[in-house]
Amino acid sequence: MPNLTRRSFGLLAGASAASLAMPHYARAQGKPRAVVIGGGSGGGTAARYLAKDAGEDLDVTLIEANARYTTCYFSNLYLGGFRDFESINHGYERLASNYGITVVNAFADMIDREAQEVVLADGSRVPYDRLVVAPGIDIIYDSVPGYSEEAAQIMPHSWKAGPQTQILKSKLDAIEDGQQIVMVAPPNPYRCPPGPYERVSMFAHVLKNKGYTNSKIIVLDPKPSFSKQALFQEGWEKHYPGMIEWYGPDVHGGIVSVDPATGAVETDLDTFTGSLVNVIPAQKAGMIATKAGLSNDSGFCPIDPYSMRSKMDDKIFVIGDACIAGDMPKSGFSANSQAKVAAMAIRGDLLDARVFPAKYSNTCWSLIDTNDGVKVGAQYAPTDEKIASTSSFVSQTGEDAALRQATYEESIGWYNGITADIFGS
Ligand SMILES: Cc1cc2nc3c(=O)[nH]c(=O)nc-3n(C[C@H](O)[C@H](O)[C@H](O)COP(=O)(O)OP(=O)(O)OC[C@H]3O[C@@H](n4cnc5c(N)ncnc54)[C@H](O)[C@@H]3O)c2cc1C
Repeated sequence: MPNLTRRSFGLLAGASAASLAMPHYARAQGKPRAVVIGGGSGGGTAARYLAKDAGEDLDVTLIEANARYTTCYFSNLYLGGFRDFESINHGYERLASNYGITVVNAFADMIDREAQEVVLADGSRVPYDRLVVAPGIDIIYDSVPGYSEEAAQIMPHSWKAGPQTQILKSKLDAIEDGQQIVMVAPPNPYRCPPGPYERVSMFAHVLKNKGYTNSKIIVLDPKPSFSKQALFQEGWEKHYPGMIEWYGPDVHGGIVSVDPATGAVETDLDTFTGSLVNVIPAQKAGMIATKAGLSNDSGFCPIDPYSMRSKMDDKIFVIGDACIAGDMPKSGFSANSQAKVAAMAIRGDLLDARVFPAKYSNTCWSLIDTNDGVKVGAQYAPTDEKIASTSSFVSQTGEDAALRQATYEESIGWYNGITADIFGS
């Protein structure tokens, strides 16, 4: 294979992992190898920081199942008509061309921890000295009786962005005045605590914009309270009076089942029927993490709070939604923050680079209506027990319109910044 630079080879590997399998994946010139599974908020950041900070001293491979990544963040704004779909999609080209990362577009089937190799779906093996596992979440379909992967085509969860988001958008746009939307909200812990309620706001924004006065949005929540509840409920009252009804478990008594054929959601209290039913089930760490024995009974993966190192395997780091991150919520911001700590620890392990004390941060912005943005966030530090919150902030009810607009604009800056930080610029 003449005239192939390492960078162009990386892109080719992305195009066809199978055909290039063995020779390419063998250890490159004795350099230590860092491999990352999952090119999302956590994995993309980890790969980029490893490559950027270690330069030619480290061989970095990123294994990602999809050719492009659709962000869950701002997918609600796409539903609300504030963004187009293309604007929330990102590619891996710059990670390969600007940072020399070998991007392998393939599904990682298992981790052979004994041999320190990732086994891809085609059977080829990628050896590692240190491995970052960042597969995000898997949906636990049967946590809602009657729900399944097939049912999700009719009652989309849209909690993994991509085709599911587009199904939800087309169903939302097809709603007619007088028709009802039902959301089954997820139990804790789940990705993006304020996400369901921002989504409800965007549903209402679309209905209001069409001048609908007879449609309702019913939220059936297994939790007695939710993130930024006072802010959302104040905003719903202000912008969408009478349109949104939120019921906690003390009112509906529990979700009994859903029926995709009729659009019915049966609870202990009553049966609610929607022309659009958005079912967001319980979640667990992405399958590869569980299959490799990195998770515990909670379905998520315990880590060392000082480094993000797996408690099950000291050659592996688990970051993002798949890990148990103490007080940190499961968010893109958190995953990005954890990735930098893991990348630093790996450079310490493999290159004797200096390792500074870990610090973490998170902010989650939500849009309630045009220019009405709110946020919640915190700083965190590791303790022997967990990643613990050290200070926090949250928007206040009754804030003026200028502050809310500034908060929304801040979120746009954050989106541009974090996607550049993950995928390169
Ligand atoms: C509606 C919604 C709104 C949200 N809004 C926000 C927000 O405003 N701010 C915020 O910070 N967060 C937000 N989030 C949360 C955020 O999207 C997630 O917390 C974040 O993406 C988690 O990052 P991750 O790297 O753990 O997983 P992901 O970003 O999901 O990345 C996982 C990647 O791993 C790949 N993968 C999985 N298994 C394999 C395998 N076996 N082989 C190869 N590849 C694999 C997947 O294809 C995927 O690309 C929102 C989420 C939702 C659902």
